[in-house]
Amino acid sequence: MHVVLVGPPGAGKGTQARGLSATLAVPHISTGDLLRALAGASTELGRELAGILSTGALVPDTITNEIVRRRLSEPDARAGSLLDGYPRNRTQARALDTALAAHGRELDRVLELVLDDEIALTRLLSRGRGDDTEAVIRHRQHLYRTQTEPVLEHYAGRVVTIDADGTVEQVAERALRALREE
Ligand code: AMP
Repeated sequence: MHVVLVGPPGAGKGTQARGLSATLAVPHISTGDLLRALAGASTELGRELAGILSTGALVPDTITNEIVRRRLSEPDARAGSLLDGYPRNRTQARALDTALAAHGRELDRVLELVLDDEIALTRLLSRGRGDDTEAVIRHRQHLYRTQTEPVLEHYAGRVVTIDADGTVEQVAERALRALREE
């Protein structure tokens, strides 16, 4: 089963993706994690990525699409994957469709996590990652509403939506129920 997690910054995508990946026995593919790892390298690409990540802007689609295409070609991702933080816009959604089609697959489900921006802001400020300053969070929230929400229309009919306000366990239970019911 190939599943994409979509939700505003701070909705708990990473936390839920880790749990679901274990339960569904598919790899967790987080473009944020992959990009942060690349940004840590002292190469030209590493420095370019570190600069972009610190502002909360999106990394160019060509880079992100290629990272995901390669990761999905690895044997452990053939039967399924849990994508977290990707696709973040319609161009990436089309690239994902092409990457899955190359292996005779298509996206099965989009799990949408819904959370109020102010609650998410409080959560993120307590997490304290490098790109978790209020101005950068506001920018990421804006990009989510304008760029990423249209991905839900792209996958209309395959989207299941849950409330992401609650404990990790409560949200995990809602997520599993939503994925199994549909
Ligand atoms: P995340 O860990 O998903 O919150 O992502 C952290 C940062 O990584 C984002 O603010 C972007 O700068 C970058 N990033 C992660 N995923 C993508 C993506 N699919 N496309 C472009 N940039 C991304």
